[in-house]
Amino acid sequence: MRICVYCASSAKIDQAYFDATEKLALEFVHSDIEIVYGGGATGLMGKLADTIIDNGGKIKGIMPKFMNEVEWAHKKVADFEFTDTMHERKARFLVDIDGLVTLPGGTGTLEELLEAITLKRLGLFAKPIVILNTNGYYEPLKQMLEKCVREYFMMEKHLEMWTFVDHPEEVVPALQSAGDWDGGAIQFATYR
Ligand code: AMP
Repeated sequence: MRICVYCASSAKIDQAYFDATEKLALEFVHSDIEIVYGGGATGLMGKLADTIIDNGGKIKGIMPKFMNEVEWAHKKVADFEFTDTMHERKARFLVDIDGLVTLPGGTGTLEELLEAITLKRLGLFAKPIVILNTNGYYEPLKQMLEKCVREYFMMEKHLEMWTFVDHPEEVVPALQSAGDWDGGAIQFATYR
């Protein structure tokens, strides 16, 4: 399996987020899962890559050239792809993967996640999306998405596009048990 992970660049966040990321990275290595991520060396991105590399796992970074020029690329990640733009990078994240995992993060992580959900809703991306809700970090997002459905901005069926889990040990099982997403999703993308 090849999984894309979106996560924070910030190094200043609570230790609990680093601990959960380390546990998840070990789960990936033990399950022989290859990781694709943003290529950063700081925050949860750094913790994810360090743990995977130190334990013999496989990880690839995808980063726009301008970030490499300011030396944001993780020095120990051997497999790298550099894109011209942020948009191109985001598109590359979703190619040739079997699923997507989002850990706590800031606006970069949020917009990457919401774009993937939007593409899935339109039938342009069909893989499982698992959101790790460490310390209830994503509770407001969960409520916002449910509000979208409750107030008819989205349909009940759209709740099947993602899975929130509380603990790192639940991520791989959630990826494996996620149901197939309907290839005809464009037919029910919105209320008319
Ligand atoms: P955030 O969740 O806001 O920290 O955003 C994570 C995303 O922000 C990454 O995918 C990158 O687009 C970008 N980013 C911000 N800072 C860095 C960094 N130091 N190294 C790599 N990517 C970064």
